[in-house]
Amino acid sequence: MQDEWGIHWFRRDLRIPGNEALRENFQRNRGRTLGFFCLDSTFLARSDFSHNRFGFFLKTLKILQEEFHNQGGDLLIVDASPQIAFAKLCAYLSSRHIPFPCISWNRDYEPFARQRDAQIETFLQDQGIKTYQARDHLLFEPHEIFQSDCPGTFYQVYSPFARKWFTKLASPEGQMRWKTQKKVFSYFEKKLSPEHHFRMHWSEIQQEGFPFRDAWEEFEKRNQKKVTIALPEAGFCQAFGQVLRFQEKLEAYEEQRNLPAMLGSSKISIFLKNGSLTVAQVLVALGLENTCLEEKTGGTAFVKQLAWREFFYSILYHRPDVEKKCFLSHYDTIPWENHEPWFQRWKEGTTGFPIVDAGMRELATTGWMHNRVRMIVASFLTKDLLIDWRWGENHFMKELLDGDLAPNNGGWQWASSTGCDPQPYFRIFNPWLQSEKFDPQGQYIKKFVKELRNTPTHALHHADADRTGSNYPSPIVSHAQQRQKALHLFKNQKRS
Ligand code: FAD
Repeated sequence: MQDEWGIHWFRRDLRIPGNEALRENFQRNRGRTLGFFCLDSTFLARSDFSHNRFGFFLKTLKILQEEFHNQGGDLLIVDASPQIAFAKLCAYLSSRHIPFPCISWNRDYEPFARQRDAQIETFLQDQGIKTYQARDHLLFEPHEIFQSDCPGTFYQVYSPFARKWFTKLASPEGQMRWKTQKKVFSYFEKKLSPEHHFRMHWSEIQQEGFPFRDAWEEFEKRNQKKVTIALPEAGFCQAFGQVLRFQEKLEAYEEQRNLPAMLGSSKISIFLKNGSLTVAQVLVALGLENTCLEEKTGGTAFVKQLAWREFFYSILYHRPDVEKKCFLSHYDTIPWENHEPWFQRWKEGTTGFPIVDAGMRELATTGWMHNRVRMIVASFLTKDLLIDWRWGENHFMKELLDGDLAPNNGGWQWASSTGCDPQPYFRIFNPWLQSEKFDPQGQYIKKFVKELRNTPTHALHHADADRTGSNYPSPIVSHAQQRQKALHLFKNQKRS
């Protein structure tokens, strides 16, 4: 080997264009950068593992590998934890007297990932390997946004966080972050010139005894049998195309984002989750780089949602205990009723509350659920069925293609009033009023609850309406009664 070389360790940044750490590695090594992904089978044993989400992840990974090949490069997908994979790689390189590469990755903010990354960094540095990390997954990282009047203190409420986030977006530092992403457009249009191509393959260092073989096919074969839904198209180009298609809905976003029948949202969460796309790229693609918080436009409303995502990442980063516990710790002792048969009915979408059942069936059949409906079903599980938010959070993770710890945990804790919502616990959604307000014609309900297709619209929004002949169950609980119970449950915790 005459030249310096590098490895970029992919995790949740599954794209080439505008990938911050990959680009740095590419530049430092003049294109002699290899891609590396460790498929850690211990993930498959997690209680919140989803074959569908994993299937989508594998699909994205394959596209990434093909993009590497198309650009003269190579990505190796190995069946090992990163700890084992890097140890084996180092041992192999030493034994063959191959110089060590420089290794890069983009930062991850989940508690488990932070621990893993710290471990890997120490190991690699002990071997004398240069490492390089970058910000990529978020526009502003949790350690960058603190209260101005109280340095080092993170925001626990969204509104002041958002004000700070938007101020940073307008700052020269914020502007630099999206400007570096402008070139991504040329990639999308496939106008890559040869000097942007990779110049190295894994075969260059593969001699006898090389400890890995590509594991993608094996994982795909095992997993695909268990995939229960039609998986959407994956990859950077698909994600970028989706953002561009969403552009025409942007102006109406504020009015339509709460109407599940309209599909007025971007549906980019599945791409943001695995890094097929980043927030900075979305802003550039939609021309929203200079958005002001004060403007009352669809664009502002949309960027505020992206800031919600970064807010929940910040909460998880600064309070890693929320992964298991309530953000408001005095609610940790709530004696949830946790009635299993009700939980079952909620999961299968047979609670007799049409909007709740439509949401749960949308989730089961598509792997996605509209945000307004996520709030309704989460409030229903915790405040009407009095079931621990962690049961719902876990079920969402098993079903959602966009299942992502920070926004999922944040969403569940927000809806169950155990999280960082400044509104007190007695804001309890009435599922009947919610469905009347946000699905007035019942189009969304009828799309997913087939038994109600011929039911008159008004009967979809009232507990005591006559739905006989529809073969649809009666409501399993009375909202009014359960509301009182929930109030009692929360109030008692407040006092203790
Ligand atoms: P758009 O309305 O187009 O918004 C654009 C982007 O902003 C989204 O892709 C997402 O990244 C972000 N965003 C939007 N709303 C929120 C929000 N309320 N909180 C945080 N970020 C937001 N989102 C996930 O990505 N993964 C999850 O596992 C997840 N679980 C949730 C659980 C509950 C109980 C609730 C109430 C919300 C959850 N959300 C989750 C947030 C939100 O529902 C989804 O991000 C959104 O529905 C995705 O659709 P979209 O891309 O069309 O959103």
